[in-house]
Amino acid sequence: MNTMTRLNVDALVVGGGIAGMQAALDLADQGYHVALVEKEASIGGKMIMLSKVFPTLDCCSCITTPKMSAVAHHDNITLLTTCEVQGIEENGGAFRAQVLQKPRYVDVDACTGCRQCEYACPVDLPSAFDRELGAVRAIRVPFSTAVPQKAMIDIDNCLLCGKCERVCPTDAIDFTQQPESFEVEAGAVVLATGFELTPTDAKKEYGGGDLLNVVDALVLERLLAPTGPYGHVLRPSDGKEPDSIAYVQCAGSRDKTLGVEYCSRVCCMYAIKQAMLLSGALPLADITIYYMDIRTFGKGYEQFYQNAKAMGIEFVKGKVAKITEDDEQNPVVRVEVVDEEAQIVERAHDLVVLSVGMLPGYNPEPLYAVPTAADGFASIPAPNIRPTVTDHPGIFVTGTAAGPMDIVDSIVLAGAAASEAAAYLETTRQGQPAPVEMEVAHA
Ligand SMILES: Cc1cc2nc3c(=O)[nH]c(=O)nc-3n(C[C@H](O)[C@H](O)[C@H](O)COP(=O)(O)OP(=O)(O)OC[C@H]3O[C@@H](n4cnc5c(N)ncnc54)[C@H](O)[C@@H]3O)c2cc1C
Ligand code: SF4
Ligand code: SF4
Repeated sequence: MNTMTRLNVDALVVGGGIAGMQAALDLADQGYHVALVEKEASIGGKMIMLSKVFPTLDCCSCITTPKMSAVAHHDNITLLTTCEVQGIEENGGAFRAQVLQKPRYVDVDACTGCRQCEYACPVDLPSAFDRELGAVRAIRVPFSTAVPQKAMIDIDNCLLCGKCERVCPTDAIDFTQQPESFEVEAGAVVLATGFELTPTDAKKEYGGGDLLNVVDALVLERLLAPTGPYGHVLRPSDGKEPDSIAYVQCAGSRDKTLGVEYCSRVCCMYAIKQAMLLSGALPLADITIYYMDIRTFGKGYEQFYQNAKAMGIEFVKGKVAKITEDDEQNPVVRVEVVDEEAQIVERAHDLVVLSVGMLPGYNPEPLYAVPTAADGFASIPAPNIRPTVTDHPGIFVTGTAAGPMDIVDSIVLAGAAASEAAAYLETTRQGQPAPVEMEVAHA
């Protein structure tokens, strides 16, 4: 890790998902110097984990990796991974952020991403990227399309056996690295800290996370992805190819018992998308979607839904009350079917997918003095006319840090946040010299 004490930029973007990457690119293309701070070892956020995207069914990796690469290679963007903002001060209209960089225990300048260390490492761990279905080594490049392609050691699980050190062709392993603090001084801040999923154990009625064949929708994204853990859709308990798959909609949204009263806006569409992809991957499987309402609000989305129905995917109107399991660990869904005179039925499936909702990933109140709204996402005082402007002058918000939204809306809002930040910089900087980098940082 290079030593860096202070970085002076025009704008600080916090979060390297699609929203943060797009905001950084939009600002950088206008000539502003941007620091993009991401807490994980790679940028890409949740989008790089997805298989294909609705409504076009484009391969997600194919459309996300060029953006990740553009961020990493842009002359006006300083990319800071494994970094978190610890505090922020305001000084005469400028922001000074204290950032802590976690050590990778790998010299990023020397590491070529060859992965020899990974092949030599004896420690297998569940892969967070593959939602615990696949395995990774204690030292690894985070995933095959990670940016930057640099290794990192999970030091808590490392045996300190030195095997990686012995095989590394560039002597990049460095066990002496320590956490490093530095400051980023910026004229404006864009928050793009994203979302988290409703945990599968949130609802006791759905098995409370104890039923092996009840999974969340991000697990299905990984099972369907070409880079996924098995290359096939297999259920977790016994590796069987499922013949009958059910989706339970609003499993963590529009649910007062969980304190999540809002609609997460993407779950209907991603369930329909996954059902279509499953029809291709498992042509003989029966696929059922249990729903309260189907909300297909975007351009081309309603047609997408109609196409799914035409493909034979079964849509059953009814709120699932309970999920249990039978002796073969098949999940059994208990549901009141509205279109059949409110009959209560129980149906067994091989695999049940919970269409979990979006929760705020991060509370910007303590660090950025950006209050949150009743839903827990950043408060936006004038959502109709300035949807990226927070209560705190100079701090803007984009993507799912502002509220549940899909990729299209995240990108649109990122452009809006970049424009607002640029306008703010121009107004506050009149008569002041343009900032320059004091010392150059790297990923
Ligand atoms: C199962 C599933 C399928 C989906 N399928 C589709 C689809 O087909 N089409 C579609 O349009 N949308 C889809 N979506 C929605 C899509 O994933 C989101 O719209 C999009 O990923 C939002 O991007 P984001 O940048 O706002 O957030 P995120 O992807 O969550 O990125 C936020 C980033 O900020 C980082 N971060 C958070 N806090 C900090 C901090 N304090 N400091 C530094 N970094 C921080 C995180 O590590 C993360 O990298 C799907 C969602 C799910 C759950
Ligand atoms: S740490 Fe060494 S062995 Fe591992 S990816 Fe980097 S260069 Fe290759
Ligand atoms: S020192 Fe740690 S990371 Fe390196 S090979 Fe051994 S267990 Fe793996």
